[in-house]
Amino acid sequence: MTIHTAHDSVIREAAGQPYPYRATELVEPDWTRFPGWRDVTAAEWASVQWQRAHCVKNVRQLRELMGDLVDERFYLDLERDQAERATMSMLVPPQMMNTMVPHVVPGGPGSLTEALYADPIRHYMIPVFSDRRTDWSSHPHATRDSLHEHDMWVAEGLTHRYPTKVLAELLPTCPQYCGHCTRMDLVGNSTPVIEKLKFAGKPNDRIGDMISYLQRTPSVRDVVVSGGDVANMPWARLEDFLMRVLEVENIRDIRLATKALIGLPQHWLQDDVRAGMERVATVARRRGVSVAIHTHTNHANSVTPIVAEATRAMLDTGIRDVRNQGVLLNGVNADPHALLDLCFALLDGAQIMPYYFYMCDMIPYSEHWRVSVADAQRLQHHVMGYLPGFATPRIVCDVPFVGKRWVHQLADYDHERGISYWTKNYRTSIEAADTEALERTYEYYDPIHTLPAAGQQWWAEHGRLDESALKAAEMAEASRRTAALQAY
Ligand code: SF4
Repeated sequence: MTIHTAHDSVIREAAGQPYPYRATELVEPDWTRFPGWRDVTAAEWASVQWQRAHCVKNVRQLRELMGDLVDERFYLDLERDQAERATMSMLVPPQMMNTMVPHVVPGGPGSLTEALYADPIRHYMIPVFSDRRTDWSSHPHATRDSLHEHDMWVAEGLTHRYPTKVLAELLPTCPQYCGHCTRMDLVGNSTPVIEKLKFAGKPNDRIGDMISYLQRTPSVRDVVVSGGDVANMPWARLEDFLMRVLEVENIRDIRLATKALIGLPQHWLQDDVRAGMERVATVARRRGVSVAIHTHTNHANSVTPIVAEATRAMLDTGIRDVRNQGVLLNGVNADPHALLDLCFALLDGAQIMPYYFYMCDMIPYSEHWRVSVADAQRLQHHVMGYLPGFATPRIVCDVPFVGKRWVHQLADYDHERGISYWTKNYRTSIEAADTEALERTYEYYDPIHTLPAAGQQWWAEHGRLDESALKAAEMAEASRRTAALQAY
């Protein structure tokens, strides 16, 4: 991770501060610079149907778009990753694709290759084999359902992990698939590496079970409506679900999770979606319920004028807020300037509230993206003081069996082995009878390649990958069994 950029001394002299704030002007990159979109009109670009129909889903389509501007070695690198490492299938809407290499003018065969390799959005949306680590590509404690959400399902897809809030996974698809997706166990199509879990229940039955749980559980006041991405749910069905949730007396907060606000903002600009959201916001206001959109942006280049327009459209419906929950990723944003650039682009340019940055979870093949807790603490230190307090993002670690903790909240830290220890102040839904739940410490693991030599040696002797792969498979199987039991 880079904490001090190469330009630091120049910038410090020029601006007197480690981070030189400048007003942000959002720019929509010119999509016609890509050969495959040379003739695409503004009207087509604004159409959500056109965007969905022209997503880049495989190497062939990427070749058709980029042609020989990108060297063959990149395509081969990508093909190898898809065959041997990728936990998510490829799905990149044109809107997202267009935010890659935005400032490089194509200059002939191969001219975009290096820029594409280096691009921060490409790094997490189109991972290639050479991005991944070959020493420790997965942490020995990495698992498919690293947060054990399935173990905490109280109805199929309804995770009750915190005392007053639940996560409702309505559907297992998104308009875009991120390479580092935490819910890689469930979300998206199966890949050669990961066979995805499938919901057992019918969608209407699952939704009925979720509503029924909310009705009989007055301690829950907050519902995160997620997936997948709610933008992939037909609006009428999503609105029906939201109206049913709004009828539950105890609910006070509803948060809609959609990366599509960034990846496919055209969806949220549709007339029927805007009108529907206005109906939901009107009922929510009458009932004293806060409805907010939570989106997921990891780099300032993603924040373009059409993203700002879609955000404005949503705020105009009367919902309370639009907030960002990014993921801290090496090669993308694990740098104080990149984080602050993103936060200011969100806040100044698009009226999106910087809220959280999650540390990347311990899923298989994510080690090249993950940063250590110590680096996350340093990043938190470096971003303090520039943004208004209410818009200063918290960097959080989602500790298995604990939940979100601010990165400075750890109870103990073995820096040599990269093991941090965390405590908690509530029981999850599977710990009602666990008398020790609030006494014990829970572990989170730094990437092994970031450790000092003695720590790396310890893991070489104690962290056998074969065993851990088995463990991951066993845990996934246990999750599946739990899910099936709960569904019936
Ligand atoms: S949008 Fe969210 S749920 Fe969908 S693939 Fe990306 S991280 Fe996963």
